[in-house]
Amino acid sequence: MTARRIDGKAAAQSIRDSVAALVPDFEKRAGRAPGLATVLVGEDPASAVYVRSKNRATAEAGMVSFAHNLPDTTSEHELLQLVTGLNADGRVDGILVQLPLPKQIDATRVIETIDPAKDVDGFHPINAGRLASGLPSLVPCTPLGCLYLLRQELGDLTGLDAVVVGRSNIVGKPMAQLLLGANCTVTVAHSRTRDLADVVRRADIVVAAVGRAEMVRGDWIKPGATVIDVGINRVAGEGDKGRLVGDVAYDGAAEAAAAITPVPGGVGPMTIAMLMRNTLVAAHRRAGLADPEGL
Ligand code: NDP
Repeated sequence: MTARRIDGKAAAQSIRDSVAALVPDFEKRAGRAPGLATVLVGEDPASAVYVRSKNRATAEAGMVSFAHNLPDTTSEHELLQLVTGLNADGRVDGILVQLPLPKQIDATRVIETIDPAKDVDGFHPINAGRLASGLPSLVPCTPLGCLYLLRQELGDLTGLDAVVVGRSNIVGKPMAQLLLGANCTVTVAHSRTRDLADVVRRADIVVAAVGRAEMVRGDWIKPGATVIDVGINRVAGEGDKGRLVGDVAYDGAAEAAAAITPVPGGVGPMTIAMLMRNTLVAAHRRAGLADPEGL
């Protein structure tokens, strides 16, 4: 079998188009456009690229972007003051503090200071707890994007065996909660899991979020499984910059799987699309409006 290649770029564009199409209606009802504030501390080049893309996507969707770029000498107190100000700013529906933060700043304290209603990254413990309790919440963008691709590919996920490799608060844990909410039988694997290959072989759905280049091998994939590769790893290749690969050995996995996301062009573009979606949803909830339909 040669797997279908799941086109995350096309899916992400369609979500961004849907968000942009819904913004004018929000503006008419709320009397203002939705707003997303981004906070970048320091000059990490990868973080700067991510934040610029997020600002651009916000503007393209017709929403207002408030970009705050702070020096890497910023103290925790200064950052917390900025976040507190953004919490109180009525024009701001979403607050995104780009991680990682410089070492003098405790990221947990910053996340806990963001108003959960504006926590469009879905990292606040209130949102994590609400997700785990099956209550409406703001859900982390990357796993939400993975679930969207799985639903698009498979429709109803009820009863499927899902294995999530990785248990971070950002990807693995919320992914497992979303799959549980979609009635999958979920296994969460991590660095202490015994016989990872055997665990993955049982899965109808594999989500790999490890951060280790091509660690999940092709012969671990059950024939006909759907594989979602969250990993982004830069490895040596032609040219100075090398090339990007996922956590799954794509060629081998594509021989067994029914469908698989490529890296790049799979999960990556979905993260920004879901950030736009979460910002629009947060704006509706803050304005006392029902969640927008079709997102
Ligand atoms: P973390 O480093 O926070 O978590 C990695 C997880 O993988 C941990 O739970 C760890 O287990 C587990 N792990 C590490 N080594 C092994 C191993 N040998 N076998 C099994 N499990 C292992 O990473 P993130 O969750 O933040 O990110 C994962 C990947 O996804 C990265 O490549 C990152 O770049 C990418 N990513 C992509 C995004 C996108 O937009 N596409 C967004 C976010 C992340 P343990 O808990 O036991 O240490």
